[in-house]
Amino acid sequence: MPHLTIQDEIKKLRCSDSPTVTRSPSPKKTEKYIVQKLRKQFELTKDTIGDGSFSRVKIVHRKEQGTLVKYAAKFLNREAKVSEQLYEERAWKEFDIARNLHHPNIAEVISLCRHNPHLVFVMEHCQHGDLCDLMAKATLRHGAKKCFFKQMLRGVAYMHSHGIAHHDIKPENLVLADDNVLKLIDFGLSEVFADLLPPDSKGERKLGPVREFPARLYDSYDARALDVWSCAITAFAIFAGDVPWDLADDEDKSYQAFRGSWQYLLEEYPDLPVTADNFPLTTFAKALPEKELATLLLRMLHPFPEKRMTILEVLEDPWVQAIECCSPESNHSSTVRGDKDCGIPKMHDHRPLTDELASNSD
Ligand SMILES: [Zn+2]
Repeated sequence: MPHLTIQDEIKKLRCSDSPTVTRSPSPKKTEKYIVQKLRKQFELTKDTIGDGSFSRVKIVHRKEQGTLVKYAAKFLNREAKVSEQLYEERAWKEFDIARNLHHPNIAEVISLCRHNPHLVFVMEHCQHGDLCDLMAKATLRHGAKKCFFKQMLRGVAYMHSHGIAHHDIKPENLVLADDNVLKLIDFGLSEVFADLLPPDSKGERKLGPVREFPARLYDSYDARALDVWSCAITAFAIFAGDVPWDLADDEDKSYQAFRGSWQYLLEEYPDLPVTADNFPLTTFAKALPEKELATLLLRMLHPFPEKRMTILEVLEDPWVQAIECCSPESNHSSTVRGDKDCGIPKMHDHRPLTDELASNSD
């Protein structure tokens, strides 16, 4: 079996000749949704909170029950080489996926609006910024990092259980809301994989419980396995404070060493499962503060996607189960915000130190 690197997987993702993916779990564009002008629903501000080549994110307001509520508005840029039709199709695809995701660890997308020449996603505003910002402030305690890890896993598990793979999990795409809840954003590369499932006796392609998923959807590529890989890399960045390598390719020395350790282990003990007593001896593992965590991340980075843990298996790992988490497991318990009402005690204060000081001095 060929040794698959993350690059191979990404290449397959980008240049896949796999069957066209349709969008059965999400309502289609034909379902009534009117794209209104942004100004009709929201008041624009001059606050820009993010600026990239694909989009610019600004703050907008809307009055709700007498209160001014802040939202983040993502203005999608259209590259010159992309036709208007393709630009709109991509925006609709992302919107169709995002508006059907409702989980505490996923940012709610509220509307798709137009502000010529842009299409604009309006979503909940998470005021403490992304995980990169939080890590740069270097004030996160170990318990808070573990809590972030579990929250990320829960968001991804929810997506996978709804037949959707995120495909772009990284610290920049995880943002912190005011109530200590970490949320996944940016579904521009997300794909629905549920349509690739085999039909049941009635010819319907329904998702069963996550456990019953077929081991692989394509011959050589499984979108969920890529998400698990990306969760492990993001977790490494959270716990070790840096990425394990710049690029997962043969030119990168750190990745080369990591791969070499795996190769040795798989050649010596091809049938032994990866455990705390049998795992690749890498500098990767030494950079992590707990052996259980190192073993877990290595199992999430198994070179063969079919042997990699699923996101549900990661959540069921005893070390992960024991993590105290500030966020509710599902939307059911999070519909009412606030510790007392939803019964979720806040274990940590995840806010950056400067924000804590600011609020204490209020
Ligand atoms: Zn927490």
